[in-house]
Amino acid sequence: MTEILSKGQVCCQVCPHGCRLAPGAVGACRARGNVDGQIVPLGYGRVTSLAVDPVEKKPLARWKPGSTVLSLGSYGCNLHCPWCQNHEISQVGEDGVGWRTVAPADVADLAAELNARDPRMAGVAYTYNEPLVAWEFVRDCGELVHECGLNNVLVSAGCVNPQVIEAVAPLIDAANIDLKTFSERTYRMAGGFLSTVKGTIEALAAMPTCHLEVTTLIVPGVNDTREEMGELAAWLASVDSGITLHVSRFHPAYRMRDRSRTSVPLVYELADVAREHLVHVFTGNC
Ligand code: SF4
Ligand code: SF4
Repeated sequence: MTEILSKGQVCCQVCPHGCRLAPGAVGACRARGNVDGQIVPLGYGRVTSLAVDPVEKKPLARWKPGSTVLSLGSYGCNLHCPWCQNHEISQVGEDGVGWRTVAPADVADLAAELNARDPRMAGVAYTYNEPLVAWEFVRDCGELVHECGLNNVLVSAGCVNPQVIEAVAPLIDAANIDLKTFSERTYRMAGGFLSTVKGTIEALAAMPTCHLEVTTLIVPGVNDTREEMGELAAWLASVDSGITLHVSRFHPAYRMRDRSRTSVPLVYELADVAREHLVHVFTGNC
């Protein structure tokens, strides 16, 4: 997923940003860079956060309820949402946060050990920052985790090119993909692309081995109208009316600390709008 350009420059093709990187340069996600004329996933195996979380926290509402997952995060993200609640790890590179290197075999061994102690531990979740900016680590861990008979969970903004999804989708047992807005213009404000995320959702929904849920964070003044939620939910239903949607409440964070929280009645109202199209709609953070 690298295009070789002239004078040692290379173009990363993992996401629609298509960063053209001179030797030694790092991409907009801060997790991939040009090392000796090759695009390298700098965030590979560099873990900033490690915790055992309930699956409901991912959030996954309709996949192995009551189970837990070993959750791993690194640093970097190809989006730059001004409301990011994980900006301490998503909006920094290798110098901006503490990390330690973990090999895929260590991840699988730890997951197997935790599962042996408590069978409710269902597998590994790739989460917290954007895991797909180092998708090779998801692939390599995912294969070993499956060999242990455990599951892989992907929590992602889904804004990557189709060949990345094709590479990891067969290994993913459950996914929660953000659908941040149904406006291409608003997506651009966050550095993302609605059309790309729609493609990811369609691809994962078509995978019979992957349970798919979607999250929309309702940010005041950004994506909080009945009209937008109606369009978003109608499109999701056109893909599969059985897709679970989480309508989630914004709390002030990062560059939007001056905004108030989303009103709880509005979150409930927009969830009701979504229920006109979808069977499984949950509210979150209320
Ligand atoms: S994954 Fe990172 S380096 Fe690659 S194109 Fe996207 S932002 Fe640029
Ligand atoms: S996609 Fe997620 S992790 Fe990345 S900036 Fe947006 S909210 Fe933060």
